[in-house]
Amino acid sequence: MNTVAPLDSVTSFLAEKHQLLIGGRWLPAASGESFAVENPARETVIAHVARGGSEDIDRAVRAARAAFEEGAWRRITPSERGQLLWKLADLIETRSEEFAQLETLDNGKPLAVARAADVALTVDHFRYYAGWATKIEGETIPITVPYTEARFLDFTLREPVGVIGQIIPWNFPLLMAAWKLGAALACGNCVVLKPAEQTPLSALLLGQLTCEVGFPDGVVNIVTGFGDAGAALAAHDGVDKVAFTGSTEVGHEIVKASAGNLKRVSLELGGKSPCIVLDDADIELAAEGVAGAIFFNHGQCCCAGSRIFAGPKVREELTERVVEIAKNTKLGDGFDPETAMGPLVSGEQYDRVCNYIGSGEEQGAKLLVGGRQRPRGLDRGYFVSPTIFSEVRSDMSIVREEIFGPVVVIQPFEDPEEVVAKGNDTAYGLAASVWTRDVSKAHKIAAGLRAGTVWINCHNIFDAAAPFGGYKQSGYGREMGRHALDLYTQVKNVIVNLT
Ligand code: NAP
Ligand code: MG
Repeated sequence: MNTVAPLDSVTSFLAEKHQLLIGGRWLPAASGESFAVENPARETVIAHVARGGSEDIDRAVRAARAAFEEGAWRRITPSERGQLLWKLADLIETRSEEFAQLETLDNGKPLAVARAADVALTVDHFRYYAGWATKIEGETIPITVPYTEARFLDFTLREPVGVIGQIIPWNFPLLMAAWKLGAALACGNCVVLKPAEQTPLSALLLGQLTCEVGFPDGVVNIVTGFGDAGAALAAHDGVDKVAFTGSTEVGHEIVKASAGNLKRVSLELGGKSPCIVLDDADIELAAEGVAGAIFFNHGQCCCAGSRIFAGPKVREELTERVVEIAKNTKLGDGFDPETAMGPLVSGEQYDRVCNYIGSGEEQGAKLLVGGRQRPRGLDRGYFVSPTIFSEVRSDMSIVREEIFGPVVVIQPFEDPEEVVAKGNDTAYGLAASVWTRDVSKAHKIAAGLRAGTVWINCHNIFDAAAPFGGYKQSGYGREMGRHALDLYTQVKNVIVNLT
């Protein structure tokens, strides 16, 4: 195996004592505890990180509050905010190989993916929101006030919400931090970020860079820890808004926890996204597209295309092609340039995905490729082969539940009218893709699908300018684009008596 060697800077970063970023200082957890961070390709411990708990969350929220209400952040101009975000993007870009390697070590994804997707999109994301900092505008509203002769000027201000709690998952650790921080900081908020316990490292390096570029103390706070730290953040009365990405199950908990002080909530949750392939699709494009829709990032994408619907004429060929792609996918360590798919993120996730595969087999689905056995030559690491089932029933758990692994079900449909109902037969509504050469059918199906994103002849295409979020139990609120500004600002109406 001809693997890439880790940079010296990565090796020395891993060996650092990883503490919590609170009020501009790096501090140990109040409990003094830390936890181990694992490389899922080798099942080895690569770093230790402070285990923040509710006391640390409280300290971080207070630091964020102080920064929001007093201090330099209060006086900073929109232009300066934009410049800080731009500088942050530049610095991440300069150190992009370091970030990519950390992401691969921590999450398991191939280095090429970490470079081209995670880090590149992160840099672009911060640049995009750097631009917005100077363009967050109110409006003037011509009002009459019918019961008086007086004349008034009415205008609105878009003000930051305040202290934001942000809880993120492990599938795109750095990019999820960027999605959360970019818009929140552009709008002038202060943040407490809780990374996922499985992948805290890139957020900690990002935290170092926020200090280096000169974000004032307390504007960005990072508390690594487990679910209890997330729960404390979601429940904290000093938090004005919580933004969460993760499972629908925890999403429900977040909403309940937010009730105490009626904090605002935005949720980006799970999915069971359909990929609909019509008979007139470009079969090569569609086969590669739907395979990528589920196997990219090992199926650990909230918008993974985990249900393929194939029209009667393409069914056989599409299935053969996707099975062939699955068979030829090279699994291995993300540092091996030949690796197309790395391990799942953790032993817990490995067990979860294998249990789903087992349940598909037990419930009588036909396993076309993959399965629970370890891929040949990989005795360590949480590797699961690309797995495809057909002959499924719509009540099976592999059809209904989010697996978050490289597991897909192929289902038939007869006509394009029927497939919209089938695609919508899920509690989720995050994304969908439609594969066809017929523009009119594509638009009709897109209009019928209850999903926050519909891709046509593509899947997993993201841009900082394009809004992303869910219908139904995939959550609410839209991240990215101008829509994310609505999550992180509130409107103040000002009425001036001119008479
Ligand atoms: P999760 O529990 O929803 O974790 C997401 C984040 O929430 C993590 O930072 C987690 O901390 C934190 N958290 C956990 N319990 C919390 C609570 N009660 N209150 C506040 N925050 C809490 O997801 P998971 O356990 O890592 O993965 C389980 C399943 O969730 C996956 O198999 C997948 O189906 C789904 N998932 C979806 C997405 C997505 O992008 N939509 C992302 C990840 C997972 P810890 O890391 O310490 O638990
Ligand atoms: Mg969890």
